[in-house]
Amino acid sequence: MKIPLLSNATQDKRICAFCNGIGDMTTNGPGRLLNLDVGQWCHLNCALWSAEVYETVSGALMLVEQAYKRSINTECASCKQKGASLTCFFQRCPNTYHFPCAVNNGCVFYKNKTIMCPVHASRTTATDQILDDKSVFRKVWINRDEVKQIQNYMTEEHEETSYTLRIGSLVLHNVGQLLPHQLQSAVFHNRNFIYPVGYTITRFYWSMNRPNRRCAYHCTIIDMDNKPMFRIRTQENLDEPAQEFLESTPKAVWHKIVDEIDSLRRRHGLVKMFSIFVSGEDLYGLTEPHIIRLIESLPGVEMLQNYAFKYGRLQLLDMPLTLNPTGCARSEPKLQTHFRRHAQTLTSSHSTRSALPRTVLGVEGTQIPYVKHFVLSKSTQ
Ligand SMILES: [Zn+2]
Ligand SMILES: [Zn+2]
Ligand SMILES: [Zn+2]
Repeated sequence: MKIPLLSNATQDKRICAFCNGIGDMTTNGPGRLLNLDVGQWCHLNCALWSAEVYETVSGALMLVEQAYKRSINTECASCKQKGASLTCFFQRCPNTYHFPCAVNNGCVFYKNKTIMCPVHASRTTATDQILDDKSVFRKVWINRDEVKQIQNYMTEEHEETSYTLRIGSLVLHNVGQLLPHQLQSAVFHNRNFIYPVGYTITRFYWSMNRPNRRCAYHCTIIDMDNKPMFRIRTQENLDEPAQEFLESTPKAVWHKIVDEIDSLRRRHGLVKMFSIFVSGEDLYGLTEPHIIRLIESLPGVEMLQNYAFKYGRLQLLDMPLTLNPTGCARSEPKLQTHFRRHAQTLTSSHSTRSALPRTVLGVEGTQIPYVKHFVLSKSTQ
């Protein structure tokens, strides 16, 4: 059986918003792609060396969005294309480049994260400050407005194959939904988790067939006889048969796979993977803060009894309850959830919800603690 999603997932089509280069590049060149916004990417060094951008001690790249906005109308002094963001540090020199163009053009890169065009670099004496290797092996990410990013995702008209939200080794394709009778049945949630029907992710995890290789696991939640069922499909190569697992809990279905991986590793004399510490909900992405926010924003979810909200009043979006006007169960899969942004999204609270138990915002809830006490660190590469 052919699953197009898995074959597509192996081809990197992500384009850098600055230099237009496709996919990850060498570490001493533009570097790996970082997530800039929903469906938007940029190379680590294309962002890091932009004139406005600086890095906090915790590894957050600040002001990348401003750099991107400026680059949209800024022509590269070398290739004459738009998207240039690395500006010569010499006062009033207008020369601005793409990162790869700056390298190819003989611009000089300094340890304090500034660059100079060839003309001005030749007049500068600080040769001991020149940085030769531009590789970045530490963890860095682009600081962005997480709430805005998730709102963009929610308000995009997206089909299953179009916009995706990538979080580490996980790609969210569809957040799913719960219809009124599913909400009322109380079997699609428990105290800690909500299981929306149609929820679909791809998890990149260890292969069951090849030791030390990773492959894509396509995980969905489906409604089977009015109960949630957890289905995982994987197909490492198109000439191999797809494997499918179906169980009534995320734990049960993932443990089948983790057991296969463990027995493969035993056969090859490799160390065990400590599968006992891997939670099925973790691998299903249901403990990811972004995904919890999306699920807690689904229509009707605020009425769930016995579910402990992780975000409570910080609920992202106020959305109408999904209605099934036909009353016919067969038409349900065609129904789309329409998201509507509330005028006072973040401050709105619901009297129905205030009576429910809430989890106090924990570590996961404090999204951007580093903003308050960052220290400029342009000097470490
Ligand atoms: Zn780039
Ligand atoms: Zn250029
Ligand atoms: Zn210059």
